[in-house]
Amino acid sequence: MSKILIVEDSKLFGSVLQSEIKSRLNEFTTFWAQDYNEAEKILDEHGNDFFISLLDLNLPDAPNGEIVDLVLDREVPAIVFTGDISEEARDRIWEKNVADYVFKDGEQSIDYIIAMINRLKRNQNIKVLVVDDSIFSRKVISDLLKIHLYTIFEAVDGIEAMKVLLENRDIKMVITDYNMPNMDGFELTKEIRKKFGRDELSIVGLSGEGSGIMSARFIKYGANDFINKPFLQEEFYCRITQAVEMIENVNKIKELSNVDYLTGLVNRRFLFEAGHRLHAASLRKQTTIAIAMLDIDFFKNVNDSYGHDAGDEVLREIAALLKKRFRDTDIVARFGGEEFCILVANMDKKEIFRIFDELREQISQTSVKVKGQVINVTASFGVCTEIQGAMEDMIKQADMLLYQAKENGRNRVMTDLVSRKEASKSLGLIK
Ligand code: GH3
Ligand code: MG
Ligand code: MG
Repeated sequence: MSKILIVEDSKLFGSVLQSEIKSRLNEFTTFWAQDYNEAEKILDEHGNDFFISLLDLNLPDAPNGEIVDLVLDREVPAIVFTGDISEEARDRIWEKNVADYVFKDGEQSIDYIIAMINRLKRNQNIKVLVVDDSIFSRKVISDLLKIHLYTIFEAVDGIEAMKVLLENRDIKMVITDYNMPNMDGFELTKEIRKKFGRDELSIVGLSGEGSGIMSARFIKYGANDFINKPFLQEEFYCRITQAVEMIENVNKIKELSNVDYLTGLVNRRFLFEAGHRLHAASLRKQTTIAIAMLDIDFFKNVNDSYGHDAGDEVLREIAALLKKRFRDTDIVARFGGEEFCILVANMDKKEIFRIFDELREQISQTSVKVKGQVINVTASFGVCTEIQGAMEDMIKQADMLLYQAKENGRNRVMTDLVSRKEASKSLGLIK
């Protein structure tokens, strides 16, 4: 468990802070000192083994922010807060290299602190490349990023930057100077955008030759933002955080748009997108691919007898069962309503009927318990095993076979290749 040091003499704010951290950040334990002296004792005992410290600037035995120096000396990152403060005092605080500065004004500041701790936690896994030909500038930027716990890479020009990016494809942000030998910031931005989309990598341009046109051009070439040198630390952090959150949000939306809300399976949209890739790869490599359509039998009756919520629970359980049954490289999708589509790559054709028939059997043996009631369902399957030029044709074929399975009495698997005799053989019923 990671540790958080709170130094705060107000019993009210301190205890609210402590209990909010406890309930909202459950992987942290807190240590609360009510003055400088107590904080020093805790630090002596635990060393620099704290993820972050939350510091009140005005303490009874240290009224002028002395606590910040103590904590930073021990290499513990600091977020500071106070009731009110002059502009100069605020600048002085930033100069000390704190991670953030918060006004203490009720609930909102607690929310802000919690969000900031979460941000810093995520930053540990975010790799940032700093590109600048000046050692001094690189160090200034890197040091600022380190305070926010990012993992840093450095490059001296655009050419080296591209090399580092291609070797470390999980780098999420590039902060680049404009004026550099060999390849400048504009060229680098253009090169990066040929290979990495905005959902993969954020670019922030930086220059001392700041003019409006400079920032506009950076952004036109594909940068997400631009910072003029010299800058205030506070502005730097705001812009960097925004650039990181932009990628996180795009990815979140992408993820959400691929997932079915009720079952957590991927949806039809994802099935077609990823399915096309799998299908094309199978055609190219001449490997097998099978597509199964599965429809729960008489599902309307489940809703009618037990209610819609119970129906939802059945769908969730069937979905979980399907998910468990197949590999991560297969696609198990909710196709719509009580219909699922499963795309299986690289499976021995002789196995396919058996796999799906076992699955059919397993579903028919499953009892879903909802509010003391036991619900049993069966499902019908249509499985297309013969690869065809288009994935859509395979889905159509599977759908037709599913229709036949329903016609023939439900709770059964129909495939295109396996005749009844071959099916029995694959089940080991006849030789
Ligand atoms: P068949 O064996 O021919 O497939 O009969 P069926 O009743 O399963 O088929 P039908 O297409 O007539 O009815 C499907 C039902 O599934 C109707 C619809 O209300 C229900 N359904 C679709 N989506 C959901 C859902 O998300 N939750 C619940 N609870 N029910 C759903
Ligand atoms: Mg149905
Ligand atoms: Mg249906």
